[in-house]
Amino acid sequence: MENKSKLGVHALVWVGGWSHEECRTAITKTAELGYDYIEIPALDPSSIDVKYTHTQLKENNLGATVSLGLPRHADISSEDPEVVARGESILIDALNVTRDIGGTHMCGVLFSALTKYMHPKTERGINNSAEILYRIAEKAKTAEVAIGIEVINRYETNLINTGAEAMEMLKLIGSNNVSVHLDSYHMNIEESGLGNAIRGCAKRLGYFHIGESHRGYLGTGNIDFRDIFKALLDIGYTGPITFESFSSAIVAPDLSNILGIWRNLWEDSYDLARHAKEFIEVQQKSAQETFRNEH
Ligand code: MN
Repeated sequence: MENKSKLGVHALVWVGGWSHEECRTAITKTAELGYDYIEIPALDPSSIDVKYTHTQLKENNLGATVSLGLPRHADISSEDPEVVARGESILIDALNVTRDIGGTHMCGVLFSALTKYMHPKTERGINNSAEILYRIAEKAKTAEVAIGIEVINRYETNLINTGAEAMEMLKLIGSNNVSVHLDSYHMNIEESGLGNAIRGCAKRLGYFHIGESHRGYLGTGNIDFRDIFKALLDIGYTGPITFESFSSAIVAPDLSNILGIWRNLWEDSYDLARHAKEFIEVQQKSAQETFRNEH
């Protein structure tokens, strides 16, 4: 049993924005550490210089994925058609950016706003979200971009907080180009068990965020990574794994404030990202060893 997952790092480990200099820095350092791809946040798709980014990626022989969450005024799980339409248009813009930089995946909180809701989800809202995501997913097929819906905690969406809820949503969307995107940081808050949540998604898991309980250095919080990597191996997961970590040392005002990144958990991006890659590879090896002993 081999680990075929590509490893990536979230751009916010390096930079808070996407100026040419920030783009170059993030891409060259990610490539230097031997990661396969970089995950670029596109809350505002127009902030990404597509041509420049594509060139930098090519020059560094690095892959890319794109992630985003929708703003309140463009929430596709709203009951207001105008708000829903604004959300669809952001998703289309982000999809075009993903395609044009040569990205393979678009994922994150594509199904609702990324915010603290003060009310539960509604039936009409869920149906709106599923309908739009079907259209986006079908459009994405032509662009050869895979869509992932990220399961996040209750303080950041009211729509999908568990892997089981994401599986229900996939049924409702009804496109084979959408998969579940899990994140260990959020799973630690919401799931009954980490490994079991992964097994519950099995073949429909298409993207994975690896992050600590405090979103800092892997292995310094309380997440049971053995359970996670064993489960990924058990289901034969071969999709991307992105290291995601945030510190007040590097701020993207739109994203960092929503996520509540108030504490300084690290200063040295390079050391953090180098450590994360090594940590993931060690976990993968040890999971393989356990797997072999079982079979
Ligand atoms: Mn995440």
